[in-house]
Amino acid sequence: MEDMFENEILCNKCGKKTEKVTILKDGFKVRALECPGCGKKWLHPLDLKEYQDFITLKNRDFQVKLRMVGNSFSVTIPREIIEFEEKFRQIEKEMDKMIHMSLQEPGKLTLFFKKDRGKEK
Ligand SMILES: [Zn+2]
Repeated sequence: MEDMFENEILCNKCGKKTEKVTILKDGFKVRALECPGCGKKWLHPLDLKEYQDFITLKNRDFQVKLRMVGNSFSVTIPREIIEFEEKFRQIEKEMDKMIHMSLQEPGKLTLFFKKDRGKEK
């Protein structure tokens, strides 16, 4: 399949040649074309699809069971989340199989699939 982003695309408003840019949406890199004249942006359809999948997943509220295993408790992470993370990580680098966990505040436990935890909002 040919990527339309590889072609030269002119802005339909002002006729200027668009430039390739990357937009960061919720930590997601979305390729886009931007018109230097009017600033209009066209998002890459494949990236946009991935982003929408992420938003769907983000808005879902998963209920998982807490089970006691020896002296610890275990939770199961829904497959959709792992599959999404694996796919997402592979774009950048291999997925870190170690998961980082921290108690953010009473009542809120956070899991990190990546090492750099600093950028969490
Ligand atoms: Zn334009």
